[in-house]
Amino acid sequence: MTRHQIQKVRHEIRRRTLTVTALEAVTPKMLRISLASPELTDFVSLAPDDHVKLFFQDEVGATVMRDFTPRAFDPAKGTLTLDFALHESGPATAWAASAAVGDRLEIGGPRGSSIVPDDFDWLLLIGDETALPAMGRWVEGLRAGLPVTTLAIVAAPEERQTFQSAAALDQIWIVRDGGGDDAAQLRRALDALTLPAGEGFVWIAAEGAVARELRRYMAEDRGHPRVWMKAAGYWARGQADGGGRIED
Ligand SMILES: Cc1cc2nc3c(=O)[nH]c(=O)nc-3n(C[C@H](O)[C@H](O)[C@H](O)COP(=O)(O)OP(=O)(O)OC[C@H]3O[C@@H](n4cnc5c(N)ncnc54)[C@H](O)[C@@H]3O)c2cc1C
Repeated sequence: MTRHQIQKVRHEIRRRTLTVTALEAVTPKMLRISLASPELTDFVSLAPDDHVKLFFQDEVGATVMRDFTPRAFDPAKGTLTLDFALHESGPATAWAASAAVGDRLEIGGPRGSSIVPDDFDWLLLIGDETALPAMGRWVEGLRAGLPVTTLAIVAAPEERQTFQSAAALDQIWIVRDGGGDDAAQLRRALDALTLPAGEGFVWIAAEGAVARELRRYMAEDRGHPRVWMKAAGYWARGQADGGGRIED
């Protein structure tokens, strides 16, 4: 068996209608919404950076979709948890900000999972607020003692979260400065970071241009093999529904 094989698994796409059961402010700008439905009993999500599509109506009544991470789920109980990084505008953020217990939400997927094998010597997870749900889920599921570093940029000190993990977790937080150049701030932090010995996996999720620049930096300036790296634009500045995989 080859080491470090990323396994892709396809799932049957199903639409499900869920009901909001609880809301919790994880931080001032990170809203956790718990949902429940008997339709979740066969919900499958195999990888921490899986995503579901959330369906909303825009202002002219057209259906629009946005991608969100299953932060936690329990098929036996029929529950799913989503974390919303609240920002200025958009149907997902507007829905979350005004959600109340009893509201309905339609979801689709996950369509597939990309499973990173548990045979790397270390992990480095990099991103902004939108990456925190996947990061949190990821580190919570890691084996004891595995060296993992999370490097996250957030808007304010109170946006930092504490993740529980059996792994040897090092959480590095950067507070966004006024300039708004996440790539430059994250790169400076990476410059100061000594990576552990051995073969590691690097995961990047942030605004599209930021994710692309950090992927270039890790590959070209740090010599990290691109096959042991995954970078995704989780949103695009100035563009609605701008998430997607970063390709060369
Ligand atoms: C695989 C995947 C998983 C994701 N998981 C999560 C998750 O679990 N939680 C989460 O909060 N987000 C997550 N995202 C990001 C989320 O899908 C986007 O932020 C999405 O654009 C939000 O939709 P919206 O309707 O609020 O805003 P949109 O209508 O898409 O955008 C409206 C405006 O807001 C801007 N914008 C969008 N997102 C942000 C942001 N975060 N900060 C500042 N400005 C923004 C856009 O540039 C646009 O100008 C994920 C994205 C992907 C691709």
